[in-house]
Order: sequence, then C-alpha cells, then structure tokens
Amino acid sequence: MTQQQTAGGDVRLTGISKTYGSFTAVQPLDLTVPQGSFFALLGASGCGKTTTLRMIAGLEEATTGTVSLGGKDITALPPYKRPVNTVFQSYALFPHLDITENIAFGLRRRGIKSVKKQVDAMLELVQLGDFARRKPHQLSGGQQQRVAVARALINHPQVLLLDEPLGALDLKLRRQMQLELKRIQTEVGITFVHVTHDQEEAMTMADTVAVMNGGRVEQLGAPADLYENPKTTFVANFLGTSNLIEGEVVGTGTDLVVSAGGGRLRLPADRCSAPAAAGGKLLLGIRPEKISLAHADAAERIADGRNRVTGRIVDSSFIGVSTQYVVESPAGKALHVYEQNVEHRAGLVPGAEVVLHWNPAHTFGLDASQDID
Ligand code: ATP
Repeated sequence: MTQQQTAGGDVRLTGISKTYGSFTAVQPLDLTVPQGSFFALLGASGCGKTTTLRMIAGLEEATTGTVSLGGKDITALPPYKRPVNTVFQSYALFPHLDITENIAFGLRRRGIKSVKKQVDAMLELVQLGDFARRKPHQLSGGQQQRVAVARALINHPQVLLLDEPLGALDLKLRRQMQLELKRIQTEVGITFVHVTHDQEEAMTMADTVAVMNGGRVEQLGAPADLYENPKTTFVANFLGTSNLIEGEVVGTGTDLVVSAGGGRLRLPADRCSAPAAAGGKLLLGIRPEKISLAHADAAERIADGRNRVTGRIVDSSFIGVSTQYVVESPAGKALHVYEQNVEHRAGLVPGAEVVLHWNPAHTFGLDASQDID
C-alpha cells in the first residue's frame, strides 16, 4: 500500500540562531531541507542539532532568523499550528491505551470519530497489524517506536522531525529500525529531519547529511560525498577513520605532488579543499579500506603510479570482514589499514616491514592549519 501524502515544500532556515544568555548553542545558520528528502543533522553531543530541530518544531524560539515551509514564514507560529510533528527518543506512548488508541489519539483530539480506516492504514504502514490491541508495555522498544512514528504520521504532517528516535534501542534493533524508518519515509514521501550522533545511522538513512560542530554546519552533502570528500579534519574523523598525513606541496597542476614521510604522494587537485601553492603545507587524507599492504621485500610488485609510504606493523586484529592493521610510519603517527582480501594477509604480522600503497585518486587534501585529531 502506498501512503504518499501531499507535502508542502522545502524547509528553509535563514540566519537562524539560538543563544542562551551569553552562550551560543546555534550560530546563524542557513539551511534548506528539500521537500520529500530524508535529512540528517549529525554531530557530537552538544553541537546544537536538537536545538536546531526544536526551532523547526517551534518548541524553541529562535534568537535570530526565520523558518519557512514551502515559502511560508512559520517562525511566529506556535508548535501546534505548524504542519510538523516530532518523534522523541522517549516514545511517550500512553501506557493505559492500546496501540490502536495511541495511534488514533491525534485524530480523536481533533474530534474525528471514525478513525478505523486511517489507524488500520498506519498499522499496516508500520507493520503492526497483529498488535492493534496490545498495550505499549507488551511491545518491544522497536515496536513502540514504530507506534510513535504512526501516531505522528496519522496527523499528516508535512515534515516529521525525529530526535534521536533510536537512541534507546540496542545495536541490532537500531540497525533494523534504521532500514524500517527509511522504508516508511520512502512510502509516505514526506520530509524527515532526523537528529543523530551516530554517523553510521545518518549515512544509512539520509539522502543529505548536515555535519554539525560547535553550533555550525561544518559540511553538508550526500553521505558518500561527505565520506569520500571531507573538507575538514573534523568531518574526516567524525565520518569513520581517516589517515591524515602532513606534507609540503612540491608540484602543482591537475595532480598535486606532496612531499611527505620521505616520499612523494599525489592527489587530484580537485580533491583538495585548501589552497595549494608550491612550498605550502597540506594534510593528505586516505581512508583505511583504500590502502593495501605489501611486504617491504615485495615492493617491486606494486604497480607504478600508486602512492606509497613505508612502515612497520605494530598491531593487527581480525574482525571477520577484514583485518585491521596499525602501522607506524615516517609519514605520520599510527596509520590504519583495513585489508579485506584474505590472500593479502599472509605474513602480515606485527613487526613486519611493509609498504602501504593506494590509488592517488582516493586521496583528499585538507588545510594543514587544523587539528589532526
Ligand atoms: P545532544 O545530542 O546531547 O542532545 P545536541 O547536539 O542536540 O546534543 P543541543 O541539545 O542542541 O545539543 O544543545 C546545544 C548546546 O546548548 C549544549 O551545549 C547545551 O548544553 C546548550 N543548551 C541547550 N538547551 C539549553 C538551555 N535551555 N539553556 C542553556 N543551554 C542550553
């Protein structure tokens, strides 16, 4: 069954900010959430993502700026007059009402008497048809959260705001619910704005992720783009493990050539987010799974044109899908390598002298004045 609801346009935040006394929780922010998208606000605790969400909901008054929906300024509207609904981490279900009545609550409050058809449609959407007469305490955490989503969606909001809705669930259930929420969003077609501190969750679910840090959006983009092309060390480190290598530019052109760790490394100039002039400093980044390892005495077999640095394995751990190595190298502090190819692992043990090599096209360049950690 398809439940596509008519959506009301983009959510647009213009110069929106929030201060508490002298403390700035959200710095003036411009952000557009496209209609029908699954949008994630991602960041560590305290970065201002919940405050931003609450300003969209109207639960928090903005200090400056405006919130508009489909071109209509809703900044001055109280929460209940905004066509948005919020799902919180604490499901806030009514314990004495069964699932049907929990979901029907918003309709009943508006005086709507015949609710069965709409409630049944919602039960089907969240796949809880068999649980209609149970009380919340008779459901698992994931099922309760689905009831909370159904209860919000039955009011036909144009935007559903989700504030760490999966935070209370264990990891396995969390992963299941991520896929479930994504399915529900695709089915109803309305805009979801989802707050999370879990980068994997944001990347799994969202079309667009805004990475927040210190009350600012540090970078915004599609998950793969953020992962492959981080523009700051914060984004590089927050979205997975990154190896950051300090170097000095010694050649410019379509490819930059950087002297680092006693060797020369290349990267495409268009993957460098910092100004790169000869003699300038750069940070080169490479993801662990993009690196291969070879024994130092087999280095001549590495194809020409690959970036390479030497090192010594100091630690290795087998984690099923890959073996993870930590390598000490003159190119930087501990470098991380995830090797998935079993045949490549033979003899790669702590103490082994190795060459790390990778395709220069996967290297990204960052401004060297930032903290590496
Ligand atoms: P978390 O994941 O821990 O909820 P968050 O990124 O959602 O973090 P916010 O809840 O938006 O962060 O809070 C941003 C900052 O604003 C925090 O430093 C917080 O302490 C502060 N803050 C939030 N609400 C208030 C308030 N009512 N008074 C003063 N400071 C506040």
